[in-house]
Amino acid sequence: MKVGTPKEVASAEARVAMTPDSARHLQKLGYECLIEAGAGLRAGFADTVYLDAGVRVVDTASALYAEADVIAKVRPPELSEVDEIPSGKTLISFLYPAQNTALLDRVAADGVNAIAMDMVPRISRAQKMDALSSMANIAGYRAVIEAGGNFGRFFTGQITAAGKVPPARVLVIGAGVAGLAAIGTATSLGAITYAFDVRPEVAEQIESMGAEFVFLDFEETQQDGAASGGYAAPSSPEFREKQLAKFRELAPQIDILITTALIPGRDAPKLWLADMVSSMKPGSVIVDLAAERGGNCDLTVPDQRVVSDNGVVIIGYTDFPSRMANQASTLYATNIRHMLSDLTPSKDGKIVHDMDDDVIRGATVSFAGEITFPPPPPKIK
Ligand code: NAD
Repeated sequence: MKVGTPKEVASAEARVAMTPDSARHLQKLGYECLIEAGAGLRAGFADTVYLDAGVRVVDTASALYAEADVIAKVRPPELSEVDEIPSGKTLISFLYPAQNTALLDRVAADGVNAIAMDMVPRISRAQKMDALSSMANIAGYRAVIEAGGNFGRFFTGQITAAGKVPPARVLVIGAGVAGLAAIGTATSLGAITYAFDVRPEVAEQIESMGAEFVFLDFEETQQDGAASGGYAAPSSPEFREKQLAKFRELAPQIDILITTALIPGRDAPKLWLADMVSSMKPGSVIVDLAAERGGNCDLTVPDQRVVSDNGVVIIGYTDFPSRMANQASTLYATNIRHMLSDLTPSKDGKIVHDMDDDVIRGATVSFAGEITFPPPPPKIK
């Protein structure tokens, strides 16, 4: 069978779903690899490097769609792209089926078997395919780098002949994958880092990354904001008030704020209100990683960098992984080839779409002309 990767059509997308290295692994699984001309350029992979890795470069997306048995891409396809995929073929991509119902209807109606990389169950066996985590890790790192590029001072404290420089104080709200990566990056640059999360069990992880966990003065039984699967539950109004009071106290003291707080299936909770921005020092920087879901900060504008009246820079970019396209493509393409490895048990270049396999079933949103999303709850073993 042939695995093909088209150029991403979204102008804001620089990532590519197949790299020369992932193609070498796919060939060992028995696949022939195709790529649309120029698909890897913005991620730093020229056509010649694919050719050297044994990949066939195809002139147009249409030619690629006509020939490939498996299409691997990054962003959910446009409906017009879906229509180019012949019935019975397999699409592997980010799809966000809950938000993209028209797309889901179309892939099923067109008979395309679709695997959503954002639906890979978050279990140990599937970690190597967990593209949400690999991209969130990059987003957390890049958020701190972006903050540094907009901050007029050092992260680390210094005593120099020209004077004493205090270290930057960084607060990270939400210590999931992106938040922990942000903490690790900020502490490694020498900042004094604080972090808050509604799930008390992450305190240890926060501290192991070198940050200080921000505790609230709250009854312990009510402090637990954990739901199942490592995700948070919505906070009670009393808890939220305590949390906001704490943030109000911290706002004038911190230089950089990275927010990543999210509860699956909901809009991002508003945690950094306009009055908190007003009480921050001029030159402070906020990077709101939850911008795509409305943002954790009142003043965030998705995909924009704005400056508040008192000189606080607020960054709401939603494409941080694409801003590190080489790294992000390398990790994403590795997630994809691991998925294909599980789909190719005999390593003979032939897909076996085993709907009894928890990981494959969980990620499959359309199969044999039927919508298969949401998946059934995991079996109790
Ligand atoms: P995650 O679910 O692992 O982490 C979210 C964290 O927020 C959890 O630890 C949760 O407990 C915490 N949280 C929820 N409500 C909270 C509250 N009220 N106060 C404090 N903490 C709270 O998610 P993740 O994979 O780390 O991703 C984090 C965010 O980054 C998401 O919004 C994701 O969409 C976003 N993201 C953005 C980009 C970008 O380019 N901007 C890229 C990747 C991910």
